[in-house]
Amino acid sequence: MPFAFKRYNDCILLVNYAGEHYFIDSIEFEQLLGHTLDKDTSTFKTLKSKFFIYNDLEELHSVIELLANQIRTKQQYLLNFTSLHMIETTTLCNLRCTYCHASTASCDTDKYNRHNVFNKDAIDKIIEMIFQTASKYIKIELQGGEPLTHWGLCKYIIDKSYQKNLEHEDKSIEIILCTNLTLMDESKLEFLKKYKVIISTSLDGTQEMHDAHRVTYGNKGSYNTFVQKLFLTRKVLGHNSVGALLTVTSKNLYRLKEVIDEYIRLEFDGIFIRPLNPYGRAKDLDNIDFGYSIEEFINEYIKALNYIISLNLNGKVFVDYYSSLLMRRILTPFSTGFVDLQSPAGAGISGVMYDFDGNVYPTDEARMLARMGDNNFCIGNVIKNSYSEIFYSEKLVNITKSSILQTMPGCHHCVFNMYCGSDPIRNYAEYKDLTGFRPDSGFCKRNMLIFDYLLDIVKKNNVDAMNVFWSWINKKNVKEIAI
Ligand code: SF4
Repeated sequence: MPFAFKRYNDCILLVNYAGEHYFIDSIEFEQLLGHTLDKDTSTFKTLKSKFFIYNDLEELHSVIELLANQIRTKQQYLLNFTSLHMIETTTLCNLRCTYCHASTASCDTDKYNRHNVFNKDAIDKIIEMIFQTASKYIKIELQGGEPLTHWGLCKYIIDKSYQKNLEHEDKSIEIILCTNLTLMDESKLEFLKKYKVIISTSLDGTQEMHDAHRVTYGNKGSYNTFVQKLFLTRKVLGHNSVGALLTVTSKNLYRLKEVIDEYIRLEFDGIFIRPLNPYGRAKDLDNIDFGYSIEEFINEYIKALNYIISLNLNGKVFVDYYSSLLMRRILTPFSTGFVDLQSPAGAGISGVMYDFDGNVYPTDEARMLARMGDNNFCIGNVIKNSYSEIFYSEKLVNITKSSILQTMPGCHHCVFNMYCGSDPIRNYAEYKDLTGFRPDSGFCKRNMLIFDYLLDIVKKNNVDAMNVFWSWINKKNVKEIAI
């Protein structure tokens, strides 16, 4: 049966189309390729049970069926077409973060007042379109700029979405507000509580690290206000209602241990250590004073991951979300949707971005490119186009077709392609075409280095680390997992 492989110094990693893996020594590998592997060996039996091989032609049909079934289970997330609906509520922001992806505009009172009137027709059409999705689970994410500078619109969308949901009893909705929290107050929180809104915010580490980038237009740090509003938000909405995203720059990359300690001090349960993306003010990663190389990022990320593993082994439950997601893909047969890392790409088919003027983009990054003058990825407008004109548009079909790793040059034979994902919009931003070029892609290099590291842990069966990963996958304390 088809599989991909990668040679390491002491063994060869095999991965099949369903993401099953096996480490084999070079002698048995040659025997496998030469069809001379002894049927009584444990290697033969394991490879057969994982559908890498079949015994005779009579078995072939049923093995293909079983393998197809496994692939369908792994790709189950594709059935939720399209579940994440992001709405750009405003381009205004009260902060001016130096790495900002969103290409925001400043928020002086005049602009704020003029802008705080919204195009009701466009917003109503956006909400109507959201409920036409086939997905039964709808997440509506309010983004900006800073959505709280346009609170009237946020309230309107939340209210209207819940009203609309009454007409669609087969669907459930969840609303996520992406905010820097600094404009949050009790009356807003009371409204958000009524609709069980989840908060997604940003924390870059200690006060010094956070204030290095997350500053007001008057160049004042925002950390103190952030912390005060974080605890106020938790008090009203509940502790688990707030998650935070970390942006890694050269100011905090070499001090990730301190960042993790700060997350724990502020009572977060985990961290998503993500590198800068080449958009907005961080477009030219090599030439910005807070940039770094992929190798530096991975080096520090691995140190941070090992620190987090040691914390868990010492009784502190704290999750590294990225490795947890990847290990779930490597170790389990289950589907793990993650819009930013899937094949075909989640752009448009798992998540979609609506601008407040009604324009629709496959991703937030595509909308940012439009803000910078490149409107190539606008797939329609909710006022002018129907659902099918937008979601079955040639542009979106092309983006999806160009993002299937099993057919992409460089990825089609990569041993990690069942665990990896593609980002056609990023490819376009970097290479001016949807396919990109794997040999010098930072996205590819980062994922390869992380997969190599994680699979080495699996290969060596590092019991302590594996217990921690299983505790994250099963959402249990490591003591309940440890054998
Ligand atoms: S992006 Fe790189 S790591 Fe991912 S599947 Fe393609 S070649 Fe492999």
